Amino acid sequence: MHLSERIQRLEESATLRMARLARELAAQGHRVINLSLGEPDFDTPDHIKEAAKVALDEGYTKYTPVAGLPELRKAIAEKLQRENGLTWTSENVVVSTGAKQSLNNVAMAMLNPDDEVIVLAPYWVSYSEIIKMADATPVILRASVEQDFKVTPQQLEAAITPKTRMIWFSSPCNPTGAVFNHHELEAFANIVAKHEGIYIVADEIYEYISYVGKHLSIGAFPQVRDRTITVNGFAKGFAMTGWRLGYIGAPLWIAKACEKIQGQVTSGANSFAQKAAVTALTASLAPTYAMREAFENRRELIGKGLREIPGFKVPMPEGAFYFFPDISAYFGCSYNEYTINDSDDFAMFLLGEAQVSTVGGASFGDTDCLRMSYAASAEDLLEAVERIKNAVAKLKKA
Ligand code: PMP
Ligand code: GLU
Repeated sequence: MHLSERIQRLEESATLRMARLARELAAQGHRVINLSLGEPDFDTPDHIKEAAKVALDEGYTKYTPVAGLPELRKAIAEKLQRENGLTWTSENVVVSTGAKQSLNNVAMAMLNPDDEVIVLAPYWVSYSEIIKMADATPVILRASVEQDFKVTPQQLEAAITPKTRMIWFSSPCNPTGAVFNHHELEAFANIVAKHEGIYIVADEIYEYISYVGKHLSIGAFPQVRDRTITVNGFAKGFAMTGWRLGYIGAPLWIAKACEKIQGQVTSGANSFAQKAAVTALTASLAPTYAMREAFENRRELIGKGLREIPGFKVPMPEGAFYFFPDISAYFGCSYNEYTINDSDDFAMFLLGEAQVSTVGGASFGDTDCLRMSYAASAEDLLEAVERIKNAVAKLKKA
């Protein structure tokens, strides 16, 4: 075997790993409740699926321009202007095969081996690995549950070094559901503006799934307009995970560099999916808002259930569809072959003993917490809570 050093440094995606283990257990006949994968349980709205079918019949079966179909780039630019206050034109938009690829494009296009990227933690699993794949160094800046999982401007300022090249975060945040408010984003923008050569990657893929009002984009602050790469996609807000479509809005030189990378790696995104994405952005957002409301109801439901489980500290998420409870009260406990030393052990215990799949917090930068997606039916969520309650009752201090 002759594997690269790069692949040996890389962790397997923890979210996808737990989803795989859950599928394997289900294939053996167990009724697994899957709360590990962050994926809306809703189907893509019909009008978007119809648009893809029409596009196929119209012959949208060929390569598109690498940066995306002109009508989609235009629809995205108009959306960014209308909803996010970002003054980009089509030229500033690059469509990709998912927000994940957009992040990878940006890392490949902008990072050098000596560069540091400050990642606001808890963070989405793939940030650290994507940064490592680009041979740069992720610097994890952790916010605790006591500070509502939000890094403060003072923390950010103190973490900046001459090697800092970028700052990456998601708001609403995967995994914590934290949402930065106007005041907090402005403070970050002011800090970045003071340091030349530092760029922001603002991952806004959960923008439509916010329970605290209108979404805010840091790139709309004029002092960081030319230093912000806004990343977004169709997976969450339009329930289009399998369509693999994402995009960036960014300064022209960054967009051009991402297009160049994409031209050598994927040649661009799927043609008829892009055509359907135009419909997603230009038609009514009523189905998106209906999904948001359903997530909000489930948040209440599972939040209440989780709070009743002894030892769970359960902050209320403000957006996205995850709970990130602190379960460290169980560290040092055991049952049968299970000993719980961190949240990964706890996730494996729940999978084996309760057949509920979740993801340990270590891969998100917090070993005390456990990520649970509530993008599942109310019935499954209630049953999951019951199963977890019964399972943890078996744990005893060693
Ligand atoms: N960013 C965040 C914060 C995510 O949760 C996800 C998961 N889907 C992505 C990016 C990647 O999205 P996509 O499916 O569009 O690649
Ligand atoms: N973003 C989702 C999650 O966090 C999907 C899985 C993945 O791409 O990692 O679970």
